[in-house]
Amino acid sequence: MIPKTTRLLQIPEAQILETTGETSQKEDKSWQKQQAEAFREPAELLRQLALPASLLASAQAASSHFSLRVPEAWLARIKTANPDDPLLRQILPVAEELERSDGFSTDPVGDQEARVVPGLLHKYQGRVLLMTTGACAIHCRYCFRRHYPYADDNFLTQLPAILDYIRADSSIHEVILSGGDPLSLSNERLTSLIQQIQAIHHIKRLRIHTRTPVALPARLDNGLLDLLQAINLQTVIVIHCNHPNELDEQVLKTLSNMQKCGLTLLNQSVLLKGINDDVDTLVDLSERLFSVGVLAYYLHQLDRVEGAQHFEVEDTEAIALHDALRQRLPGYLLPGLVREQRGEKAKTPLQGRCLT
Ligand SMILES: *Cc1c(COP(=O)(O)O)cnc(C)c1O
Ligand code: SF4
Repeated sequence: MIPKTTRLLQIPEAQILETTGETSQKEDKSWQKQQAEAFREPAELLRQLALPASLLASAQAASSHFSLRVPEAWLARIKTANPDDPLLRQILPVAEELERSDGFSTDPVGDQEARVVPGLLHKYQGRVLLMTTGACAIHCRYCFRRHYPYADDNFLTQLPAILDYIRADSSIHEVILSGGDPLSLSNERLTSLIQQIQAIHHIKRLRIHTRTPVALPARLDNGLLDLLQAINLQTVIVIHCNHPNELDEQVLKTLSNMQKCGLTLLNQSVLLKGINDDVDTLVDLSERLFSVGVLAYYLHQLDRVEGAQHFEVEDTEAIALHDALRQRLPGYLLPGLVREQRGEKAKTPLQGRCLT
C-alpha cells in the first residue's frame, strides 16, 4: 500500500529547464538539450538497454511515485542486457520500492524540524542549508529527499526571508547550496544568489552539493566554470559518486577542470547493497576520484527513506567493510563512515577517520 500523502519529486518542466540561452562552445549536444532529452519513460529505458520487458510493469508502478530521470551521459555508462549493472540499479524503478518497512519514513533525517524558513534548514552549528531547487539532472532511487515537499518551499519567493535569517545570525559562517541539485539553476540565478550570499559579512565559505558533474558533465561548461572561479568565498564542491563506473573520461576531465579553477573537491557516497558494498569497488572509487583531485569525504549509511529499504547494508557489515578499506587505503583517501540521524547536530560516525 502506498500512502496517499507520498510527496513526489515532481518539478514543473519550466523549473527543470532553466536554460540560460547560452550555447555550449563544444560541438557536443548542449547540456540544455541533453537535459531536455533525458530518459523519463521506463519502456524507452528498457529498450535502450536491451532489458527484459518483464521489468516494465514494476518500473512503471514505482516511477509513478518517484519519476524516472536519466541523462544520456549516464545511460552510456551502463552495460546493456545486465539487470545487475551498478549504474542501472541506481536509477531503475523497481517493485521493492513499493514495499514498506518499519523504521523507513518520508522524512528520515528530520528535514522538516530543521526548516527555520521555507527553503532554509538550520541543523548544524555554523552552517545553513539552502533548498535551492527540487530539480536534479538524475533521479537516484535511494534519494533521502524523494518525498521532500519542494513545491511548498518556493525558493525564489522565499529568498529575501532566507537572506534576512542568515544576515541576522552572525554564528553562521558557511552556506550550503543543496536541493535537489543547485547546478540545475541557470547561471543567472546562481550568480545572483551567490552575489547576495557573498555580500553577507560573516559568511566565509560556500559549499555546493551536486551530482551534476557526474550525471550531466556537459553542464560544467566554460560559462559555469568561470562563474565558480569568480566566487569570492572559499568554495567547496561536494560531489556524489558511488561507483567507479560513474567516472568515464568526460567526467574525469570535468572534475579535473573544476580542480583547476581552485575549487576544493570532495566526494560523498551512499553505501548501497549490491552496488558498491565491496572493498575493491570502494578502493577503486577513492583512488580514481583522487586521480583528478577529489578527496573521499563521507561514506553514508543509507538514510532510511520509504522505498529504499532494499538498498540498506547492515551496520555490522558496513563497519567490517570500512575496516577492510582502512587496510587498503592511505588515511586521506578513507571516507568517514557516517549516519545522519534525526535531531543530531552532527553526523554520527559508525567509524571515524581516526578511530582505531
Ligand atoms: C550532513 C549533511 C550536510 C552537512 O554536513 P557536514 O558534516 O558539514 O558535511 C549537508 N547536507 C546533508 C544532506 C547532510 O546530510
Ligand atoms: S542527485 Fe541527490 S538530490 Fe537528486 S535525486 Fe540523486 S540523491 Fe536525490
